[in-house]
Amino acid sequence: MDDCIFCKIASGEIPADTVYEDDAVVAFRDLNPQAPTHVLVIPKRHIATLNDLQPEDEPVLGRMYGAARRIAEQEGFADTGYRTVVNCNEAGGQTVFHIHLHLLGGRMMHWPPG
Ligand code: AMP
Repeated sequence: MDDCIFCKIASGEIPADTVYEDDAVVAFRDLNPQAPTHVLVIPKRHIATLNDLQPEDEPVLGRMYGAARRIAEQEGFADTGYRTVVNCNEAGGQTVFHIHLHLLGGRMMHWPPG
């Protein structure tokens, strides 16, 4: 997608503080962190929202969660705990329409979320 900021990060056109990359996903630090560690894990291929996920795309979700788990280990909070969140559409709080997994760690999380 030409006008998608996360596609531009995935292609390297826009710089990001990348913490992990493989053939399917890229992970980078959120510009507006909500926790001591706040990383976004995205598929390299453009998928706008969870609602747009086709059955053939579903393996990439596993790749995103696998990356999140590895980053949690790298960041040192895998055992103490962390949160992963995918927002979908306006009422879910989604503002960037390229699917992304938020990985938040380094502080106590609260429930219910806001
Ligand atoms: P969401 O509200 O779930 O769509 O999350 C979008 C997230 O992307 C927000 O937490 C923003 O702070 C973050 N964000 C937007 N632009 C960038 C960027 N260029 N680099 C890193 N994070 C970004």
